[in-house]
Amino acid sequence: MDTPLYNATVIGKIMVTPDIMIFRIDTDDAREEFEAGQNILLGLYGYEMRSSNSEPESVPAEPDKLIKRPYSIASAKTETRQMEFYISQVKSGQLTSRLFNLNAGDRVYVGSKISGLFRLDETPDGSDIVMVATGTGIAPYISFLRSHIVERPESKMVVIQGSAHRWDGYRLCIEDLLRNNTLQNEFNITPDPERTHFFVSGKPEMVSHVSEWLHDFGYTRHNPNDPGELYIEEF
Ligand SMILES: Cc1cc2nc3c(=O)[nH]c(=O)nc-3n(C[C@H](O)[C@H](O)[C@H](O)COP(=O)(O)OP(=O)(O)OC[C@H]3O[C@@H](n4cnc5c(N)ncnc54)[C@H](O)[C@@H]3O)c2cc1C
Repeated sequence: MDTPLYNATVIGKIMVTPDIMIFRIDTDDAREEFEAGQNILLGLYGYEMRSSNSEPESVPAEPDKLIKRPYSIASAKTETRQMEFYISQVKSGQLTSRLFNLNAGDRVYVGSKISGLFRLDETPDGSDIVMVATGTGIAPYISFLRSHIVERPESKMVVIQGSAHRWDGYRLCIEDLLRNNTLQNEFNITPDPERTHFFVSGKPEMVSHVSEWLHDFGYTRHNPNDPGELYIEEF
């Protein structure tokens, strides 16, 4: 069933694990050009089927209500029509359990407005950039790199991703990796607010620990009226 509010078609779904997917959509109409790191609303009605590995909802969805949540866009900022997302399933959640049940060709709601202050273009040219994420918090960094890596050859850009699954790499939490001077030893990057800007995205607990560590070096949280060197997106 389609509805007047559904305005995009699913064009791809790659299951990274049973609860993490790369999700691609094609909007019926192009959105305005956005800034790398920004987010947009995705939505489905409560009457849609939930995924087979979901769990009972914490709060049951109303069938005729459009459930909408924000998701970071992983595409380059010029991709205003076909967009990619990295989504992790909250098994008892309202929207993700329904998004995980979609397949190519299915319809979905996508908001008209793209917003968010988690933006690489707010950092000074030439500064080094460290991007720290847990899980799907890496999505805005994929957009940063797709959009800006060619424009900033003088900046070092490092991505650190923590994962609950075992991949190749360090086996310690992000906070300990930073405290162990890995940035200095491997990339010659120092946590100096004059030189290096930090982006931190993902689970609130990790964000809080990394922020505390950075505060000790003099970092302050960025906002447009009061510029700082620490950019935060929690989810
Ligand atoms: C700016 C912004 C960008 C975001 N970008 C992304 C993104 O790129 N990818 C992504 O996967 N999510 C992202 N999110 C989170 C997303 O908006 C939803 O909150 C999330 O997908 C859960 O939605 P839901 O409807 O399935 O769960 P809900 O029905 O909203 O929540 C059900 C229950 O689960 C708890 N819960 C909610 N979220 C989580 C969680 N992540 N882990 C554990 N428990 C949780 C809630 O407290 C609640 O009790 C972003 C959020 C914001 C604010």
